[in-house]
Amino acid sequence: MLKADSRQPTAILPIAIFAGSRKQRKMKIDVIALFPEIIAPALKTGILKRAHDANILAVNLYNLRDWTTDKHKSVDDYPYGGGAGMILKPEPIFAAVKALNPEETANVVYLTPQGIPLTQGFAESLSLESHLILLCGRYKGVDERVREKIVTTEVSIGDYVLSGGEIAALVLIDAIGRVLPGALGDYESAHIDSFSQELLDHPHYTRPAEFAERHVPEVLLSGHHENIEKWRYAEALKRTAKHRPDLLQRLELSEEDIAILKEAGL
Ligand code: SAM
Repeated sequence: MLKADSRQPTAILPIAIFAGSRKQRKMKIDVIALFPEIIAPALKTGILKRAHDANILAVNLYNLRDWTTDKHKSVDDYPYGGGAGMILKPEPIFAAVKALNPEETANVVYLTPQGIPLTQGFAESLSLESHLILLCGRYKGVDERVREKIVTTEVSIGDYVLSGGEIAALVLIDAIGRVLPGALGDYESAHIDSFSQELLDHPHYTRPAEFAERHVPEVLLSGHHENIEKWRYAEALKRTAKHRPDLLQRLELSEEDIAILKEAGL
């Protein structure tokens, strides 16, 4: 199990390790949420459905209320110390995780804006696991003892606050599902998208060759694969320098790379 503490983002596996592990395997993701119906429709379409049908990915949705014991099925309570907002009670969450993870082998992921920022590399490292339990918060979040005793990884999908963890869980499921070997028709294509090579993706064109007074770059019509690859790499490099210079700072640029950027005035 990968234990990536939110304060130690170095637990993210480098892409090179991921690239060596392309054997088809099955992954189970259990989701504990107050509104699992938000997630359900997305599992029935596209790549997630294909991954399910191919027996690569099993996503099970659970309603936290099913682990309550009182007649009102209460999942939340007022915060100690006062203040606005409700807190998800610890008892149903502890019971749910215990029921779904009796051997304590799963990675229990809490979706929270305070977690490790989700990146392609992080999603790929999580995709290597066989069993994830995704815990979706609501209101002010979960009782802190859940985070202290049960949660093994905390994931944020960005520096903004959603009203609940369901959409964040779906984002994570989608990012993981599409990189599982066999999920995409053309498996390789997931690994040449933006971020997989630490660069943004190069531009894409399809027919017609001329449209809206713009021509498809000549090289793409040439059939010369080496030149096409060179062009794509140069465009990805330039695009990254222009839109996400922070990504380039993590790379060691070759003299050739520097020349490409210089020529483009970047
Ligand atoms: N009080 C929390 C805080 O400030 O950190 C925010 C609680 S938020 C209103 C309710 C729930 O939505 C969270 O418990 C979490 O599960 C989910 N959530 C909100 N924003 C998120 C984000 N950026 N990434 C992942 N989950 C998020």
